[in-house]
Amino acid sequence: MPGETEEIKRRLDIVEFIGEYLPLVRAGGPNMKARCPFHQEKTPSFYISKERQMWHCFGCGEGGDVFSFIMKHEGLEFPEALKLLAERTGVQLAQWNPKERSERMRLFEIVEYATKVFEKYLRDSAKAAHVRAYLEKRGVSLAMRDAFRLGYAPEGWDTLIQHAGQRGIGVPELVKAGLVLQSDRGGYDRFRNRLMFPIRDVHGAVVGFTARTLTDDPNEPKYINTPQTPLYNKSAVLYGLDRARQSAKKADLAVVVEGNMDVIACHQAGFENTIAVSGTAFTREQLDLIRRFTMRIAVAFDADAAGVRAAEKGIDLAIAEGLQVRVIQLPEGAGKDPDEAIKKDPAVWKHAVEQAMPVMDWFFGRAFHDADLEKPEAKSAIGRMLLPRIARIPDAIERTHWIQQLSQRLKVPEDVLRGQLPGAPKPKRPAQETAADPKKPVKPSRETMAAEEFLGLLISAPARLPEGMAAVAPEMIADPDLADLYRSMIVRYTGGEQPVPDPHAPEVPASVLATLSRVILRRERASVETPRPDDELRSLSAIIRTAHSHFEQKRLADLLRDAEARGDNDAVRSLTQQIQALISEGPA
Ligand SMILES: [Zn+2]
Repeated sequence: MPGETEEIKRRLDIVEFIGEYLPLVRAGGPNMKARCPFHQEKTPSFYISKERQMWHCFGCGEGGDVFSFIMKHEGLEFPEALKLLAERTGVQLAQWNPKERSERMRLFEIVEYATKVFEKYLRDSAKAAHVRAYLEKRGVSLAMRDAFRLGYAPEGWDTLIQHAGQRGIGVPELVKAGLVLQSDRGGYDRFRNRLMFPIRDVHGAVVGFTARTLTDDPNEPKYINTPQTPLYNKSAVLYGLDRARQSAKKADLAVVVEGNMDVIACHQAGFENTIAVSGTAFTREQLDLIRRFTMRIAVAFDADAAGVRAAEKGIDLAIAEGLQVRVIQLPEGAGKDPDEAIKKDPAVWKHAVEQAMPVMDWFFGRAFHDADLEKPEAKSAIGRMLLPRIARIPDAIERTHWIQQLSQRLKVPEDVLRGQLPGAPKPKRPAQETAADPKKPVKPSRETMAAEEFLGLLISAPARLPEGMAAVAPEMIADPDLADLYRSMIVRYTGGEQPVPDPHAPEVPASVLATLSRVILRRERASVETPRPDDELRSLSAIIRTAHSHFEQKRLADLLRDAEARGDNDAVRSLTQQIQALISEGPA
């Protein structure tokens, strides 16, 4: 396995890779920076070193290599990250002990297996003739059927259980994957006689299903979904995103529709930047997913009152999160949803997307529709509908623009409207900005900064290590991570090795790697070319030694007080000597 991680890192450029997740800006030389995805910030303090193939955030202190990035960003365990990056780079992984595989990996396999079973039934089974006929009637091409991996869960109570059993997958595991329901006698298939839409995560791995009924029985719910499982969280997935992400990024626009069938119809007609929100309004997790690829969304939703109300909630959240939202409106008679509209005429849909209305225009249109502006209470109602939305716009100029618009149309002075604004826009994530947040960036102390620079200097000029060792012992460095890094450099040096660990070497512990990237990137960010390294080394050593000396004096003084209190004269004498020695040594 060590060889594999090394090979993956060799094939993957960290700048390019992270660039797929975050918008990067130049940080001098070949290095890049971005706004950190792991803490809330306005100015970029997330640095990536092209040369070292490492990243570090100076705001929250996180850092490491491609593996630690993807693990943190996607919430993966190491084996999953390894698998993902191996597939990405084409590195062959040796099979590892099944016992070591995580539960999530096992569930991924089970859900993937079920997907294959359902696919095969839909393709080949005589039992699925009515489903194939249904898809044909709905105009779904075979290419789309296969691309979206549609399937059929047959009639009967234990079809999947039987198949899975032959593969050594038991009922408890199927229950855990959300495929089987527990009963007194064991379990039974959750999905029966249903058209199966696999729901995939952003990387294309199936995590759950939406299943459409194929009977006319009014007692059967039209759609059922995988329940919450360790893999599937309905508020954190977007149907079709794995296939839409590239084209959404390219077009700098994600088109959001309501139904899975709408997504498939759009992709089939070549509108590949289309995704669906399953069921309700956007959640914050879903918006975070979209934001990785584009800040612009165009939303189409069913025009009935309930559909609009549900959509409004999600739209409000999207606006508050700083996304640019447009609303797609299908012209009269074009069809009730995107699927129908495209079947009638793809050009009409294309035009509707292109002509999508800025969301505030759309809200204004709704508010003023049929309103009798002669009536004061009508004006007041319009204000109540629009002012909270205007207040939510993060950009002050945009906010002012809409206040002016509203003022002109209502014939109410701007300052009166401003007075009615329900508070300033909330900070985007108040929950993450509370004082108790351990991620809250802390400004490092002067001696920690000095220790970072000290190590940075030694890393850039390893030949000076003996000099550094003579001046500063590892235990003089208060920051435990920095002390560890320093210690490991000394151990390597005294063992005749290169003192600076190779970031790509597999035996380097993740903690040392993270500290190494922190030190290196701090130095590269400051882009210091030290004119006189001797002086710098000396002055940094002095800062570290002084801080350590003060710390020691205080520690010994505390011990001395305790010794005096309990009348331990030997200890008192010894401690007094130590303190005097420290003081006479003077601040380095
Ligand atoms: Zn950060």
